[in-house]
Amino acid sequence: MDCQGVQDLFSAYLDGELPADRQTAVARHLAGCAVCRREFQVWQQVWEALGGDPVTAPADLTEKVLARLPGRPRSWWQNLALAASLLVGIFLGGHLGQEVYQTTLAIQTEAGETGWEGLAADSPHSLAAILANYDLDNGNGS
Ligand SMILES: [Zn+2]
Repeated sequence: MDCQGVQDLFSAYLDGELPADRQTAVARHLAGCAVCRREFQVWQQVWEALGGDPVTAPADLTEKVLARLPGRPRSWWQNLALAASLLVGIFLGGHLGQEVYQTTLAIQTEAGETGWEGLAADSPHSLAAILANYDLDNGNGS
Protein backbone atom coordinates (compact mmCIF):
# COMPACT_ATOMS: atom_id res chain seq x y z
CA MET A 1 0.00 0.00 0.00
CA ASP A 2 1.45 3.40 -0.99
CA CYS A 3 1.35 6.57 1.13
CA GLN A 4 -1.77 7.99 -0.58
CA GLY A 5 -3.61 4.67 -0.17
CA VAL A 6 -2.76 4.64 3.55
CA GLN A 7 -3.76 8.28 4.06
CA ASP A 8 -7.09 7.65 2.32
CA LEU A 9 -7.85 5.15 5.10
CA PHE A 10 -7.02 7.41 8.07
CA SER A 11 -10.62 8.32 8.81
CA ALA A 12 -11.79 4.71 8.79
CA TYR A 13 -8.67 3.68 10.70
CA LEU A 14 -9.40 6.19 13.50
CA ASP A 15 -13.05 5.12 13.62
CA GLY A 16 -12.01 1.45 13.85
CA GLU A 17 -14.04 0.63 10.73
CA LEU A 18 -11.31 -1.19 8.80
CA PRO A 19 -11.08 -4.98 8.56
CA ALA A 20 -8.33 -6.39 10.79
CA ASP A 21 -5.86 -7.00 7.94
CA ARG A 22 -6.20 -3.42 6.68
CA GLN A 23 -5.91 -2.04 10.22
CA THR A 24 -2.65 -3.96 10.62
CA ALA A 25 -1.34 -2.79 7.22
CA VAL A 26 -1.97 0.88 8.07
CA ALA A 27 -0.29 0.49 11.50
CA ARG A 28 2.70 -1.24 9.90
CA HIS A 29 3.03 1.52 7.27
CA LEU A 30 2.80 4.25 9.94
CA ALA A 31 5.59 2.57 11.92
CA GLY A 32 7.93 2.76 8.93
CA CYS A 33 6.90 6.05 7.18
CA ALA A 34 7.65 9.44 8.81
CA VAL A 35 5.63 11.37 6.19
CA CYS A 36 2.44 9.41 6.88
CA ARG A 37 3.09 9.52 10.64
CA ARG A 38 3.14 13.34 10.56
CA GLU A 39 -0.04 13.42 8.45
CA PHE A 40 -1.65 10.90 10.78
CA GLN A 41 -0.84 13.06 13.84
CA VAL A 42 -2.82 15.93 12.25
CA TRP A 43 -5.74 13.58 11.61
CA GLN A 44 -5.51 12.30 15.17
CA GLN A 45 -5.58 15.83 16.63
CA VAL A 46 -8.68 16.72 14.58
CA TRP A 47 -10.34 13.43 15.51
CA GLU A 48 -9.71 14.02 19.21
CA ALA A 49 -10.90 17.64 18.94
CA LEU A 50 -14.15 16.33 17.52
CA GLY A 51 -14.63 14.09 20.54
CA GLY A 52 -13.02 10.98 19.22
CA ASP A 53 -16.29 9.22 18.49
CA PRO A 54 -17.68 8.57 15.07
CA VAL A 55 -20.76 10.73 14.44
CA THR A 56 -23.96 8.71 14.63
CA ALA A 57 -27.40 9.90 13.55
CA PRO A 58 -30.23 9.87 16.15
CA ALA A 59 -32.26 6.68 16.02
CA ASP A 60 -35.47 8.53 15.08
CA LEU A 61 -33.89 10.68 12.36
CA THR A 62 -35.50 8.75 9.49
CA GLU A 63 -38.98 9.00 11.04
CA LYS A 64 -38.60 12.73 11.68
CA VAL A 65 -37.42 13.44 8.12
CA LEU A 66 -40.22 11.33 6.58
CA ALA A 67 -42.82 13.04 8.79
CA ARG A 68 -41.79 16.44 7.43
CA LEU A 69 -41.88 15.43 3.76
CA PRO A 70 -44.98 16.51 1.83
CA GLY A 71 -46.95 13.74 0.12
CA ARG A 72 -45.89 10.74 2.14
CA PRO A 73 -46.02 7.43 0.24
CA ARG A 74 -49.40 5.66 0.32
CA SER A 75 -49.76 2.39 2.14
CA TRP A 76 -50.91 -0.79 0.34
CA TRP A 77 -54.52 -0.46 1.55
CA GLN A 78 -54.70 3.11 0.26
CA ASN A 79 -53.50 1.89 -3.14
CA LEU A 80 -56.12 -0.90 -3.01
CA ALA A 81 -58.89 1.59 -2.17
CA LEU A 82 -57.76 3.82 -5.05
CA ALA A 83 -57.79 0.89 -7.49
CA ALA A 84 -61.25 -0.21 -6.29
CA SER A 85 -62.69 3.29 -6.69
CA LEU A 86 -61.20 3.49 -10.20
CA LEU A 87 -62.85 0.16 -11.13
CA VAL A 88 -66.22 1.34 -9.77
CA GLY A 89 -65.82 4.57 -11.73
CA ILE A 90 -65.05 2.68 -14.94
CA PHE A 91 -68.05 0.37 -14.41
CA LEU A 92 -70.45 3.27 -13.70
CA GLY A 93 -69.02 5.25 -16.62
CA GLY A 94 -69.57 2.30 -18.96
CA HIS A 95 -73.10 1.79 -17.64
CA LEU A 96 -73.92 5.49 -18.12
CA GLY A 97 -72.44 5.39 -21.62
CA GLN A 98 -74.68 2.42 -22.47
CA GLU A 99 -77.76 4.34 -21.20
CA VAL A 100 -76.86 7.39 -23.32
CA TYR A 101 -76.28 5.17 -26.36
CA GLN A 102 -79.67 3.45 -26.02
CA THR A 103 -81.45 6.78 -25.47
CA THR A 104 -79.75 8.19 -28.57
CA LEU A 105 -80.82 5.11 -30.55
CA ALA A 106 -84.45 5.66 -29.43
CA ILE A 107 -84.32 9.31 -30.47
CA GLN A 108 -82.76 8.37 -33.82
CA THR A 109 -85.54 5.85 -34.44
CA GLU A 110 -88.09 8.54 -33.73
CA ALA A 111 -86.17 11.03 -35.86
CA GLY A 112 -86.05 8.50 -38.67
CA GLU A 113 -89.83 8.79 -38.88
CA THR A 114 -90.18 12.56 -38.56
CA GLY A 115 -86.65 13.79 -39.39
CA TRP A 116 -84.24 15.64 -37.10
CA GLU A 117 -85.61 18.94 -38.28
CA GLY A 118 -89.11 17.97 -37.21
CA LEU A 119 -87.89 17.22 -33.70
CA ALA A 120 -85.65 20.29 -33.67
CA ALA A 121 -88.51 22.57 -34.61
CA ASP A 122 -90.31 21.64 -31.38
CA SER A 123 -87.29 22.43 -29.23
CA PRO A 124 -84.47 24.41 -30.85
CA HIS A 125 -81.93 23.67 -28.06
CA SER A 126 -82.59 19.94 -27.84
CA LEU A 127 -80.22 17.14 -28.73
CA ALA A 128 -82.28 16.66 -31.91
CA ALA A 129 -81.51 20.24 -32.94
CA ILE A 130 -77.80 19.67 -32.32
CA LEU A 131 -77.91 16.43 -34.30
CA ALA A 132 -79.84 18.11 -37.12
CA ASN A 133 -77.17 20.80 -37.41
CA TYR A 134 -74.45 18.19 -37.18
CA ASP A 135 -75.98 16.25 -40.08
CA LEU A 136 -76.33 19.39 -42.19
CA ASP A 137 -72.75 20.41 -41.49
CA ASN A 138 -71.56 17.05 -42.75
CA GLY A 139 -73.74 17.07 -45.82
CA ASN A 140 -75.73 14.11 -44.57
CA GLY A 141 -78.90 16.02 -43.81
CA SER A 142 -82.17 14.77 -45.17
ZN1 LIG B 1 3.68 6.70 3.88
